[in-house]
Formats: sequence, structure tokens, C-alpha cells
Amino acid sequence: MLSYRHAFHAGNHADVLKHFVQVQLHLYMNQKDVAYTYIDTHSGAGVYALDSFQATKTGEFDTGIGPLWNAVNVPAALQPYLDLVKAMNPSGKMRYYPGSPYVADQMSRAEDRLRLFELHPADVKILNENVRKAEAHKAEQGERSRGRRVLIEHGDGFQSLKKLLPPPSRRALVLIDPPYEVKDDYKKVRDALEEALGRFPSGMYAVWYPVLQRMESRQFPDKLKRLPAKEWLNVTLTVSTPGPDGIGLHSSGMFILNPPYTLEAMLRETMPYLVQVLGKDAGARFTIETGTQVTGAASARLAGEGPRAPVGNARRASPLSGKGSLRLPGQSMVREGEEGAPAKPAASPSPRRAWHPDGSAQAKPQAAGKGEARASARRPASPGGAQPRSAGPRPNGKPGGKR
Ligand code: SAM
Repeated sequence: MLSYRHAFHAGNHADVLKHFVQVQLHLYMNQKDVAYTYIDTHSGAGVYALDSFQATKTGEFDTGIGPLWNAVNVPAALQPYLDLVKAMNPSGKMRYYPGSPYVADQMSRAEDRLRLFELHPADVKILNENVRKAEAHKAEQGERSRGRRVLIEHGDGFQSLKKLLPPPSRRALVLIDPPYEVKDDYKKVRDALEEALGRFPSGMYAVWYPVLQRMESRQFPDKLKRLPAKEWLNVTLTVSTPGPDGIGLHSSGMFILNPPYTLEAMLRETMPYLVQVLGKDAGARFTIETGTQVTGAASARLAGEGPRAPVGNARRASPLSGKGSLRLPGQSMVREGEEGAPAKPAASPSPRRAWHPDGSAQAKPQAAGKGEARASARRPASPGGAQPRSAGPRPNGKPGGKR
């Protein structure tokens, strides 16, 4: 089923969580000189125009990037993500929003590889066009990538993931972000991850998922926790209390297998701020859970409850406050919705100049660590946010609906 168009949802609170985490994962990957492959199993169109018919019809960006646009006292870890979005909009007017391929293109280095999959014929066309413009622009700037840095395939990302693993450099960052319109997607994600981990256990895998009432959604994180990855991290952002009709997407999560060891601390610093700025009512909160795989009989227990059997394949999870998640001795305590934690003042990362869809060259977030800098500055190519016209928005939050 291909009715989902991300153009209707671009820049919403779920995108903010996903892309902010994605930026952090790239920054971490960039700390090592060795090149990596970024695999995006569900790429979408790459760039979205927020003044398009689709985006304005739903206005979903008002739940996400909208309130952040002029936010102050931004935590340092959120700044590179905001810098990236702002660099696409040099006029200062919020007009374009990046999709995950654009985030990857900006955050990765010349030696890294992007492998992008998209099934929708219209979106894959737009994605191709956006990437072509970006590459042409880089070439104009004298920035040459080695080999074919970005490859786009019109195909099924679930099926294609396995053929890219393990990657030549033995380093990979994989983003899995399906529409979850059909309940099969939950199972497909799990199965694809199981196979991917079998082929390449040390890859970093990031999965976005909606937190909905439907059973598949509620059970999903626990299913991912049972996958044979050494470690995992699960972060959710809820912006409001779901209404009785269950309509609308109020909450979503990012589940990361083999996460950076720095990620939990960074999220603890940043998530309270996102709750504060994006939260709509008292139901706004975040959760962070981490866990490690343990072989043999683990003695995990539920926080606040009696002893219980280990979950699934004997893995242990870190605690959640009062909500019945598992606790691993020695792991740091995890709390829900830590509202009120002090936000750090914004850092001033050294800007780089980036391609963006709207005109002149703009500052681009500085990648951390060694080997991060692209050789040359970039100027923008022509607008890349062309949007499809045909499909209407999927009703939000209807069972199976994504964002
Ligand atoms: N990752 C994108 C981003 O963050 O900008 C958004 C992706 S959107 C949520 C999901 C996309 O997956 C849609 O564009 C849809 O057409 C596409 N899609 C659905 N099923 C697919 C499949 N089996 N393989 C590849 N793409 C698929």
C-alpha cells in the first residue's frame, strides 16, 4: 500500500525527534576516520517544502520544527540539528525541512556512502532530483566525491537492506522509518533487523516508530529489545495526552540498536527541553530506556514490582521510573518526563557552508571529531522541495496511521 506521503507530515514532532537523533548518530560515526555506509530503507523525498499544499494542509510542522524555529536557550546537543534546518532556509523564513537523506548528506563526509531506498514512484523521482541537484552543486563547488557516493534505488528497503550487509568498511548506520500504515510493517522491521544483525552484528540501527494504542505498536519496543544486539536505547517523546478517539499522533520513539555510548547522557540533557517547547499539555513527557543483552539466565526485575522472569532471550533492561520497565543493576536510573531539568545554553558550533534548496550557501553544522570536515564549501542548488500533488493526507492516528 503506497498511500503514505511524508510531505503531509514533514517537520512534525516525530520528525524532530528522529532527525535530531539522526544528527547525533552521524556526529558519533564521524568521530572515526574510517568511512561508513548510511542506509536509509525508507527515504521519502529527501527535502520538503513547508509552504506546499501538503504541508500547509495538515500544518503538522507546527507541532515540531515550528515552535523550535525561534526557540532560545537551546541545549547544545540540539543545536547542530537546528543549524542544519536553518542552513536550508537562509532567508530566515522557515520554508524547507530536511528529510533523512538530506540530513545524512549534510552530516556525512565525502568518503562515506549513502544507500537510499524508496518505494513510492513519485517520491523516488523527487528524491533523485534532489540528490542530483545536490551532487551537481557540489561538483560546481569543486567538491568531488569518490565513486558513487549516493545511490538511490526504487525498491523495497526491507528486502534490500540485507544485500548491503556487511558493508565494505565494516561500519554502517541504518535508518528504518516505514509508514506503519499496515501492521505488517512492525513485523517487517523486526525481521529485517534480525537478519541484519545476523549478517552484521556491530552495525548501528535506528528505528523510528509511532506510539499508538494498537497492539502492534504497544508491543513493538519489547520485540526490539529481544533482538540479539549487544545494547539498545529506546527514547520516546510524547507531546500531548491522546484524546479518547485515539486520533492523531501524540507520541513516537526512536529505538537504537548498538547506540553510541554518549547518546543516553545527551538525550537526558535535551529531551526535557523538547518536552518543554513542544509539549501541549500535562501529558507531555519523554522516556529513555537502555538495555544490554545478557546471555544465560538474567535476573532482571520490574522496578517497583516483584521479581520476574527475564524477557525473551534473557536480556536485561535498565529501569524506568514507576512504569514497569526492567532494571539492570549497575545501570543508571532512567526516569520519565524529567520536566524541569535545566537546559544548557546553546553552543556555537563552527559553521560550515552547505547546499540548501533555497539559494545561497549557508552554515552547516560542524561534524565532531576527526576526519569530519568536507573539503570544500558548498553553495545551494536550485529548490529541491518539489512536492507531489496527488495523494491526500492520511488521517492521523487512525489505527495504523503514522504521523
Ligand atoms: N525517512 C524519511 C525522512 O525521515 O525524511 C521519511 C520516510 S516516510 C516516513 C516512509 C517512506 O517509506 C515513504 O516515502 C514511503 O513511500 C516509503 N515506503 C513504504 N514502504 C516502503 C518499502 N517497503 N521500501 C521502501 N520505501 C517504502
